[in-house]
Amino acid sequence: MFFVWGLDHIGAIELGERWKYSGPIFDAHTHIGAINEIEAMIKIEDEYGIKKQLGIVHDVEGFKEAKERYGDRFVFAKYLSLKDIAQFNVEPVLAQIETLLVEGFKVAKTWFGPRWRDWHSVAEGFRVDHPRLAPIYEALVERDIPFIIHIGDPDTYYGNQYKDSAKYGTKEAHLTELENLLKTYPGLRFQIPHFAAQPEIHRLPHLTEWMEKYPNFVMDTASSRWMARELSKDTEKSREFIIRYQNRILFGTDLFARKSDDLPYYDGRYVAQRVLFETREHGTPLPFNDADTENTGGTFINGLDLPDKVLRKLYWENAQSFYDA
Ligand SMILES: [Zn+2]
Repeated sequence: MFFVWGLDHIGAIELGERWKYSGPIFDAHTHIGAINEIEAMIKIEDEYGIKKQLGIVHDVEGFKEAKERYGDRFVFAKYLSLKDIAQFNVEPVLAQIETLLVEGFKVAKTWFGPRWRDWHSVAEGFRVDHPRLAPIYEALVERDIPFIIHIGDPDTYYGNQYKDSAKYGTKEAHLTELENLLKTYPGLRFQIPHFAAQPEIHRLPHLTEWMEKYPNFVMDTASSRWMARELSKDTEKSREFIIRYQNRILFGTDLFARKSDDLPYYDGRYVAQRVLFETREHGTPLPFNDADTENTGGTFINGLDLPDKVLRKLYWENAQSFYDA
């Protein structure tokens, strides 16, 4: 793999010296499919120090085998039925929650990226904070099951893919629905992916308000592209934010085992986040294509050079304690 070095690196630097952190990594956001894909994924992850991972299950057989073969490497998340939730069809979802823990899952997952409206028939007036969905959230609280909920997408998507806001809604409205859930269920432990959908520098003050008001959520850094693109735009603000909330941010990649034969795919995602969090590099090109900036000059990473103690929390300790793994 060819690395492009930042301008402040002078002379030859050995590969290993690029990273500050050499401890174990817990990837708090991966998707897992069939067992052969999981095996290939693990082989690649081994090269990057991934010792544990949150696996969002997409294949029941793969899940069963992974549970047997890999024991406590995985914390498994169960996908709640979106097609039922979309219709306020609460009963089947409650049945899923009922058996979640005994089946070997620890976490529940839902996904309401605006695109979900292209795939599911969504009831008129649907909102994630709709009172008709309350029994679902209450059941999770009752069993102390952590809950992953994705609702907002990058600002760039609202500008290019979701222009039809009558269909998809607006980012502000999506964040408000999510905030209502945080407020209504203080006993529910939320994992909000993608920096709570607010890594854009102009959103950090709002995210700070959430962090202060709602101690019931952590967030992950999934989507290397989104994180690298936005957090690099003002390294001082990003660094200060992460240090301040160092106990509530979990490293995650959003990798999917389906792409297991595609080494550069994995490689680029890990490298991008490690450059971002660990180095002082400046203007390092994102090691893969960013469709959202390809016509405007590309995406460049500016490193945040986080302290060792913060890296250990981000990469390992916070996930361990959040999942009680
Ligand atoms: Zn994901």
